[in-house]
Amino acid sequence: MRPPALYPIFNSIESIKGIGIKTSKLFKRLLDEDKLIYLLYHKPVSLLNRPRMSDIHSIQPGDRPVFKIKVISHIKPPSRKSPYRILCQIQSFKGDELEIVFFNYHKDYLIKQLPEGTVCWISGSVELFNGHLQMSHPDYITFDEEKIPLIEPVYPLTQGLTNKMVEFAVTQAMRALPKNIPEWIDETLLKQTGWPDFKTALYELHHPKSAIDLTNESKARQRLAYDEILANQLALAITRSRLKRQKGNALKGTGELTGRLKELLPFELTGAQKRVISEISMDMACDFRMGRLLQGDVGSGKTIVAVFAMLQATESGAQTALMCPTDILSRQHYKKINQLAEEIGVHVVLLTGREKGKTRALLLKEIANGTAQIVIGTHALFTPDVIFQNLKLVVIDEQHRFGVEQRLFLTQKGSAPDLLVMTATPIPRTLALTYYGDMDLSVIDEKPASRQKVDTRVIPAKAREETISKLKTLLQNGQQIYWVCPLVEESEKSDLANATDRYNELNALFPNRVGLIHGKMKGTEKDAVMQAFLNKELSVLVATTVIEVGVDVSSATVMIIEQAERFGLAQLHQLRGRIGRGADKSVCLLMYDYPLSEVAKRRLEVMRQTDDGFIIAEEDLKLRGAGEILGTRQSGLENLRLSNFELQAELISTARQDALNIIKTDTMLQTPRGQALKMLMYLFEKDVYISTISAG
Ligand code: ADP
Ligand code: MG
Repeated sequence: MRPPALYPIFNSIESIKGIGIKTSKLFKRLLDEDKLIYLLYHKPVSLLNRPRMSDIHSIQPGDRPVFKIKVISHIKPPSRKSPYRILCQIQSFKGDELEIVFFNYHKDYLIKQLPEGTVCWISGSVELFNGHLQMSHPDYITFDEEKIPLIEPVYPLTQGLTNKMVEFAVTQAMRALPKNIPEWIDETLLKQTGWPDFKTALYELHHPKSAIDLTNESKARQRLAYDEILANQLALAITRSRLKRQKGNALKGTGELTGRLKELLPFELTGAQKRVISEISMDMACDFRMGRLLQGDVGSGKTIVAVFAMLQATESGAQTALMCPTDILSRQHYKKINQLAEEIGVHVVLLTGREKGKTRALLLKEIANGTAQIVIGTHALFTPDVIFQNLKLVVIDEQHRFGVEQRLFLTQKGSAPDLLVMTATPIPRTLALTYYGDMDLSVIDEKPASRQKVDTRVIPAKAREETISKLKTLLQNGQQIYWVCPLVEESEKSDLANATDRYNELNALFPNRVGLIHGKMKGTEKDAVMQAFLNKELSVLVATTVIEVGVDVSSATVMIIEQAERFGLAQLHQLRGRIGRGADKSVCLLMYDYPLSEVAKRRLEVMRQTDDGFIIAEEDLKLRGAGEILGTRQSGLENLRLSNFELQAELISTARQDALNIIKTDTMLQTPRGQALKMLMYLFEKDVYISTISAG
């Protein structure tokens, strides 16, 4: 598959002469990868100066000065454990003395390498010790001054690896690049930007000349970031075009069931909901496959939009699957959707890991013979023994829990089903393009008018007792409260507030009114507690983040989050999204413990100021890495090495446009530029995607 010219650069790091198994393992730990090319993608983070000094006072902290020295004498260590010292005279400054110190040493080697009277060049970090200038383990000892660079890049390292080893390995890796790498960037763009070619850019990345070369101003870095982004965008464009070229099913619907649904709804759809419902409806009706992302803030009413889509599929005689990340959520969706569906006359079933034995067998039968028109569940829906009769629409709720590859896998069930993905967390545009560039986008940018802004307050932990004492009044007024803790139980190594303790405490004060729910409970136990809270039999629900995603109890109006500083922004936003769902005024208390880091302080402040999920997502992206925003670290597309947030924001639109145009006009990547772009994709290990185009 991979062109032979690229074999050397995809060899393992161990193949470098002079690097053994042990060191190559360290590299693997550092880079998460074992191939030479990843050395080239490892960016230096700072510079090290090796100034030629003419006087001792001009040495700056951090410098590794270069001295011309003459060896005066070897000082024999008094014991085998003491360091070996060599006294020298600095030739560069009229006679100052310097001691070279070695802690681990081969005596014979040092005597041979630096006999008395030797004149040579050394460089390393110096310090003043007992009035003597000292250099321990010089980085360089050489007769040739030219061998000591003026400036060296400094790399992120891992225990056991030295900067020199990385520099050496990078140099070797540069040699493994093919001689001729064709240019894949469009000529006009190259002229406009003045970017160097790929190989030169890599060389410059590893040979910075000044601090500016380490910033986004560096043309080499810009170019490499663009290459990486372009490779990603091409992968997405290929996936997208594959999806689009595939004949799908025209799920035109009849309007009969959706019409009845409209009559049943206890509320008026928002304008945004109506708009996205019609976008989805038209997309489903055309006979190409749908791949659509539905974005909308917490509480913007995505579920009902999905129900419209599902009923349109039902009208067209097709089955639908709705997949949720948790048991709780699938049960909740099942209950709500089934209620509506029963009135409309549609058969909905629930299938999770918990349906076993006879129940499961019956469900499988209904799914296989098509009587189950809408199937709701968790991952369990997509185990191999679940066979659909006629699956033509897959809806995934709260998508950020599922990886890109899972998404592709899902669509392989059934015959080219349409795909509707709903995100729980709004995603900044840059990220949406990075991760979902293969899909069309529908956005609900409006919340139901009945929603009120949640009154959010940030309070110190010491106000806890006071807060508890206020609960009494709240409970008397019939309010329902979520109390969120970071942990389930006391764990030895942590001082995190735990739900079990808090439950015991509150339950003692308000007997029979408090429930506890956390991830370690059995599914049926969780359901029972949730149901009791929904029925208002319980007033306080002490919980961990299991309630984070999607749970909908519209009568709950108060949320208290302990140690809120431990949660990420997206998580806080999701949690808070559980309240403020009904027409009543809601309050969220973010309790924090000292000491509060700057980032944590900023997060809480953002939460207090806004409830706009898109703003929160942008802030989140600034405060943390992109990988974290989408939940777990996912495989494939999101491993950016050469790019960063700012460069991405700057370059992604151009790269996306570029990629879409290329795939449109040169679908098989056969033109000369197409060939070059294939090389680009191989260099960023997008082989899978190339194989899909070759397969046609
Ligand atoms: P999310 O977008 O977070 O998944 P849901 O779909 O769970 O939101 O909707 C939240 C709540 O808002 C539900 O109780 C739902 O019935 C209600 N809802 C949805 N659309 C509207 C609307 N247009 N007007 C009033 N309430 C609505
Ligand atoms: Mg939802």
